[in-house]
Amino acid sequence: MYCRSCGANIGENVSYCPQCGVKTGIGTTPTYVNENAKSRVVAGVLALFFGGLGIHNFYLGYNDKAVAQLLLSTIGLIILVGPLIAGIWAFVEAIQLFTGGIRYDAKGELLRD
Ligand SMILES: [Zn+2]
Repeated sequence: MYCRSCGANIGENVSYCPQCGVKTGIGTTPTYVNENAKSRVVAGVLALFFGGLGIHNFYLGYNDKAVAQLLLSTIGLIILVGPLIAGIWAFVEAIQLFTGGIRYDAKGELLRD
């Protein structure tokens, strides 16, 4: 198995990379969730209510996606469907956050519930 973050070969069933310390999402990881980790539920709720503005992605550190959604909802008004696209996109991400489809923030930190 290779580290998602630094690419080091870290063997099987390790819960974090000895090289860079990033969590792998394997084995005992759920008990290792950082108390200060970002919350999937918070992110999901943000996605539902403010998702068109990319707020949930700013929260998770996915700034590029967040800016894309923000631009769709603002400048995208010119083409009318921009906010609609951003809204649908955010709604899909809200569902992914609630169902575990999105499990990490932009730094690779496992999200807590
Ligand atoms: Zn690593």
